[in-house]
Amino acid sequence: MSEKGLTTISLKKINRSKVYQYIYKKKQTSKMQIVQELQMGLSTVSQNLNLLEQEGLIERNGYFESTGGRKANAIQIVSDFKISIGIGILKNMFHITAVDLYGNAFYTDTIPLSYSNTPDYYKQVTDKVKEFIAENKYEDEKILGISFATQGITSPDHTTVLYGNIMNNAGMKLEDFSQYLPYPCYLEHDSKSAAFLELWNHPELDSAVVFLLNRNLGGAIITNHQIHQGSTMHSGTLEHICIDPDGPLCYCGNHGCLETYCSANALEQSAGMSIKEFFPLLREKKSPRLTKIWEDYLKHLAFAIKNLNLVIDAPVIISGYLAPYFTEEDISSLTEQINTSAPFLLKRNNILVGTNGQYTPAIGAALFYVDQFIHTV
Ligand SMILES: [Zn+2]
Repeated sequence: MSEKGLTTISLKKINRSKVYQYIYKKKQTSKMQIVQELQMGLSTVSQNLNLLEQEGLIERNGYFESTGGRKANAIQIVSDFKISIGIGILKNMFHITAVDLYGNAFYTDTIPLSYSNTPDYYKQVTDKVKEFIAENKYEDEKILGISFATQGITSPDHTTVLYGNIMNNAGMKLEDFSQYLPYPCYLEHDSKSAAFLELWNHPELDSAVVFLLNRNLGGAIITNHQIHQGSTMHSGTLEHICIDPDGPLCYCGNHGCLETYCSANALEQSAGMSIKEFFPLLREKKSPRLTKIWEDYLKHLAFAIKNLNLVIDAPVIISGYLAPYFTEEDISSLTEQINTSAPFLLKRNNILVGTNGQYTPAIGAALFYVDQFIHTV
C-alpha cells in the first residue's frame, strides 16, 4: 500500500476516534455541536456518525428541544456496547462486578469462598464469571476482559503476586485464573484498583493520597493523574506506616503499623462486633465505649493523614469498605485533628470520600479494560 493510502486510513481512524470520544465526554450531543466543537466538516462528521452507528457504538435517541427549524437528533454512545468484569479477591470471599462503558457497576455480588492455592479455588471463581456471562446471554465479543484485584503486590508485568502476606498468596499467577477464561485477563493490586476508581470519579485531580479502608488497610499515591507504582511496586502501602513501635503485631512482622489501628478488621476487633453492627450502634450515641473506639480510630487516621500530607501535598481520598459510613461530622473532626498544630493546613474540601464501599477494588479493576477501550476506539 502506498504511503498516501496509509495516511488516509489513519486519518479516518483518528477522525472516527475523535468523534466517538467527543460524544463519550459530552454524554449527549448533536451533529451540529460535533461539527462546531471539533471543527470538522459536516460530511466528515456525518460519515463518521454513520460508521459508528453501523458498528453499534453510538445511537441517535430522541431529539433536542429546538427554538425553530428542524429538531436535532440527540446522539449518545451505546453504554453497554461492551462491558468489563471485575473480581475483588479477599481472604474469605470474592466480589464480582460488571461495569458498562461509563463505569457504572450495574451488577455486584459477594461470594463467600476462602482463598486456597488450589485448582478447585480458581475454578470456582472463574465458574462464577462464566455463569454470570451465560445467564445474561452475553456474546463473547461483548466482554472486554476480566480484571482481578487481589490483596498483595504484583510483579511489574502484572502476571504474578510477589508479596501476599495477608492471603498467603505470594506466587499466585494470573494464569491460575486465565487458563479457565476465554477472555483477556488482568491482575492488579487491590489498592491500586481502588485508586483507579477514585481517579476515574475525580478526573480533575492531579495528585492524591488514597486510603483504602477495607478489611485490611491499603493505600495508593496518585501523581500526574496516574497511580504511582514505584520502583518495586509498593508505592502507597501506607498500611505499614508505623504509628507506635510498641503497638500490636502486624501481619508484616512489625509492630504498630497503621493496619493494626485503621483497618476494618482492627476496628471490628476492638469493638468486638461486625462493622454492620458497629456503626448503627455507634450512631445511636448510647455507648461511650463505642464512641471512644471510633474517636481513637479517627485519631490514628488523622495522625497518618497529617504525616502523609507533608510528603504529598494533595487531597486525601477516603475509600473502600468503611468510607460510606463516614459522616460529615466525622470528616470535620478528622480535619480538625489533622490541622491541630500542623505547619500546613489541609482544607476540609480536600478530604474526599469514596462512595463505592467494599466493591471499590472490583469496580476499579473492571475499569482497566473500559479505559483501554475508550482510548482505542
Ligand atoms: Zn505492617
